[in-house]
Amino acid sequence: MTRSVLVLNSGSSSVKYSVVQPDSGAMVADGMIDRIGEDIDPGSGDKSVADHAAAIDAVFEALAADGHSLEDLDLAAVGHRVVHGGPNLFRPTVVDDTVIAQIEELAPLAPLHNPPAILGIEVARRALPDVPHVAVFDTAFFHDLPAAAATYAIDRDVASRWHIRRYGFHGTSHQYVSEQAAAFLGVPLDTLSQIVLHLGNGASASAIVGGRPVETSMGLTPMEGLVMGTRSGDVDPGVITYLSRTAGMSVEDIETMLNRRSGVRGLGGEVDFRALRRQIETGDPAAQLAYDVYIHRLRKYIGAYLAVLGTAGVITFTAGIGENDAAVRRDALSGLTAFGIELDEHLNDSPARAARRISPEGAPTTVLVIPTNEELAIARACAQVLAG
Ligand code: ADP
Repeated sequence: MTRSVLVLNSGSSSVKYSVVQPDSGAMVADGMIDRIGEDIDPGSGDKSVADHAAAIDAVFEALAADGHSLEDLDLAAVGHRVVHGGPNLFRPTVVDDTVIAQIEELAPLAPLHNPPAILGIEVARRALPDVPHVAVFDTAFFHDLPAAAATYAIDRDVASRWHIRRYGFHGTSHQYVSEQAAAFLGVPLDTLSQIVLHLGNGASASAIVGGRPVETSMGLTPMEGLVMGTRSGDVDPGVITYLSRTAGMSVEDIETMLNRRSGVRGLGGEVDFRALRRQIETGDPAAQLAYDVYIHRLRKYIGAYLAVLGTAGVITFTAGIGENDAAVRRDALSGLTAFGIELDEHLNDSPARAARRISPEGAPTTVLVIPTNEELAIARACAQVLAG
């Protein structure tokens, strides 16, 4: 059997796993162990997963139940998605104790994401000590953002002392999708100016010239930019100081609100766009406003990135909402014919799953839908780093 890579995405309450063959792109197995650390009703029949060690055990049990023994899988590597690589970790990196210590040092920059990733790495290294473990960073693709895009206009000494810059996230997806767009069109990547819209629970936009990012919507943390499922995206920093000073909210309260009780959920009560749509259809004004704010912000970013690029040859939608919600794509791009941006309604409404064009043939800007595949991109990054 061709060698494969076990890709792990360890979050605070879940571990997503997949086994991918980097050469063929085949997904051998995938799944998720969730509700880590939750109290489970003993009568419910659900299995409790006490901690990340138990979750990794459960991954191997689930693989075995699907008929995949570790011997059969012949793992070439374990690839770990790590959200924040900070200023220094921006290449896929074989994990050793020093790398773990470096990722640990970055915990304050990504308190919700990096600590569970470290737990996942440590447990997986103990379970599979003879297989190389490779960390792949969500920030990596944006490491070389131009300084004008990466820099916050704040006191430069403070920024430098505390490593404050715009790091960008979802980089694995933005890179993969922009490369796929060039492959789909059959043109060299370095000839394209692109906008990639990654619209999932988390959401981010990027502007990419010749395969290199020149702008992205997330910043120091994954909270900046577009409206997301539960995150606010851009807010006036004054909101935070005002809430702290006047409403007596702690930093933790404010962070939790901005991360978990804002965005589409905070405004419309639903995270999932299918549920939001059903609420809108019942005439719920809060759900309608949530949608309107979401689309307005998305259009603002598209407009800004058109100005950054001068012109966009390709605009690509990806991730759960971008790949599946035709109305979001239509509303995001309506009325932009003057900029060369048009959709073919029939193509846009097609329920097809594969990479596809949704703009009319010959339109100045080609609009695409391309399924993201971060697992495959991580598996390939592992294969590359091991090949030296
Ligand atoms: P994550 O950021 O968790 O990886 P995904 O990329 O899987 O997120 O996107 C998840 C979101 O995609 C869901 O919350 C839902 O809003 C949206 N979504 C998934 N399928 C559909 C669909 N058929 N129509 C509209 N939205 C969808």
